Amino acid sequence: MNPRFYQHFWDLVGGDVSSFVIKCLNTRVFPEKLNDTDVVLIPKKCVPETVADMRPIALSNVLYRIMAKMIANMMKSLMAKSVPHILSDLLVPEDVTRISRIPVSPDYEDSCYWFSDPKGIYTVKKAYRQVVGNIEYNPTNFGKWITLWKLKVPPKWKTFLWRAVCDILPTTTNLLMKRVEVDPVCPMCGLIHEDVMHTLISCDYSKIVWTISGLPVTNVITHSLPFWLTGILDMLTEEQCGLVVAVLYHVWAARNMAVWEGALPRPEQTWRRAATTYQAYCQVHHCSRQPVQQPTSLPGGLEARPRCFFNAGFNHQIGTATYGAVLVSHDGAFLAATNNHLATSHSPLMAEALACKEALSWIMARGVWQCCRSPTNLILAHSTNL
Ligand SMILES: [Zn+2]
Repeated sequence: MNPRFYQHFWDLVGGDVSSFVIKCLNTRVFPEKLNDTDVVLIPKKCVPETVADMRPIALSNVLYRIMAKMIANMMKSLMAKSVPHILSDLLVPEDVTRISRIPVSPDYEDSCYWFSDPKGIYTVKKAYRQVVGNIEYNPTNFGKWITLWKLKVPPKWKTFLWRAVCDILPTTTNLLMKRVEVDPVCPMCGLIHEDVMHTLISCDYSKIVWTISGLPVTNVITHSLPFWLTGILDMLTEEQCGLVVAVLYHVWAARNMAVWEGALPRPEQTWRRAATTYQAYCQVHHCSRQPVQQPTSLPGGLEARPRCFFNAGFNHQIGTATYGAVLVSHDGAFLAATNNHLATSHSPLMAEALACKEALSWIMARGVWQCCRSPTNLILAHSTNL
């Protein structure tokens, strides 16, 4: 019989039901099979197709359910009296007061709700934010991010600049801090430890590139790249800023070439690459700009003279140095070559200077008193134009 039968004929069956339940409670004897339950599947729609279209329900004895409900209602009043005692045994008085103030709604099912989420859904990410809080990490104090991201240069240059300002480029100093075993000296000059400011600005190689570029960057004197860049962005025009970014990017590319290929391009080459790449980018993207100033050519007539290229080699471990020089005519035809050991050198710079002296002595001994000389010398260059 279903519950509706008992409700409808309660005046007839109510007395028997009440006496049966009271008898069970008093005698503590529960008839066997009274709590047998049939589980049946009720279709959710007219034509169920899968198991998900069916809803399981439990059909238990009505007498059993009446008895269970009655016992549960009796327990509620008892629990209301006993719970405060349990709380006071387990918790401090302040927490007992707070918990007791929480309104209890017995008509609703309990459910878990994560308080920091509007939908109450818990995630590890939200819990982490709740514990740690929102932190704005800006160790550089660089205040020109908007200007930097608006620069009209290739996006990868901007990303490189962002990494440089945040000091997360893999310079030897940063690699050593991350316990990577590398030689700490600068791969371009081989003189001092490499950090981002040294590589991009104050290294002898970088200084030569900046000098050739003619950009007024040497006016900004600081040991911090964010401060240096702030000064540059404040002081220079938009076009000059674009060129500065181009040079920074290509100096870093030259440094990587020295690390991975063991060859450092000449500073003129690095500058030329930076200028032409920036010029090409501007032409494609129709930036309003003036043509990039190219390095001044040699005074008239000097191109027709023979040219001498020299190179120095320096071994850090044993402190020895060697040099080589080659003399070519103005049209590139081979004339003569030489090589030899150098006197004791203490640094690549010193080896380069001695190689230059030896090359000069050699060409003078050959009676070549006039030759072309480029405006700059290389530190670890593989060919220097005299
Ligand atoms: Zn250096």
